[in-house]
Amino acid sequence: MSNPRKFFVGGNWKMNGDKAAIDGIIEFMKKGPLNPNTEVVVGCPQCYLMYTRQNMPEEIGVAAQNCYKAAKGAFTGEISPAMIKDCGCHWVILGHSERRNVFGEPDQLISEKVGHALEAGLKVIPCIGEKLEERESNRTEEVVFAQLKALLPNISDWSRVVIAYEPVWAIGTGKTATPEQAQDVHAKLRHWLRENVNAEVADSCRIIYGGSVTPANCAELAKMGDIDGFLVGGASLKPDFVNIINARG
Ligand code: PEP
Repeated sequence: MSNPRKFFVGGNWKMNGDKAAIDGIIEFMKKGPLNPNTEVVVGCPQCYLMYTRQNMPEEIGVAAQNCYKAAKGAFTGEISPAMIKDCGCHWVILGHSERRNVFGEPDQLISEKVGHALEAGLKVIPCIGEKLEERESNRTEEVVFAQLKALLPNISDWSRVVIAYEPVWAIGTGKTATPEQAQDVHAKLRHWLRENVNAEVADSCRIIYGGSVTPANCAELAKMGDIDGFLVGGASLKPDFVNIINARG
């Protein structure tokens, strides 16, 4: 049976690029051609949200890579979902492993951010994933289920959520999970949604894989029944990103 969920490919530029580099990305995205059956969103640094939104083709979504859990106030250095929307953007990536592990964001804060972003009307890509030592001590399920469970009380609208499963050991390392390893976790996450949310959400929520996805490995990963797309870091800065967007033929 073919996968009923719309294939979704997100790019995460992280803290890379400048206006000239963004112009280059926009150029290869315009050239494509991009599979119209794939939903595409690019995550750009906050100072370039408006520039990217104004110049990127309309059908490509633009995401912030983080935001705070309040609309405004004395939170120096933060941006709010309202500001992201005011820049014309409709998406935010939250709980990326770099936010969790470099900046020490805990599950509870990430959950509150997801809740506020949804309430404010954004679409959200919450990221979860285990570290190498957790995988090696057979704790992958325990870790990703706990991360997902922490989000639950704050998810008011699952239709605006795309879950990114990103094993930390695979992010930016060139070490990709095998299609079987990724499929195994995605299937367990979907089962968890079935048991803890409901069957409709389990069947419709996109669960995308992230971790050193490249044009060379994307086609095999895209064939797996519970992998509904990708979150792509390094490779989203290069023209090859188009091949990843088109991974599912
Ligand atoms: C990411 O930033 O979410 C990511 C998966 O990075 P990379 O593709 O470079 O591993």
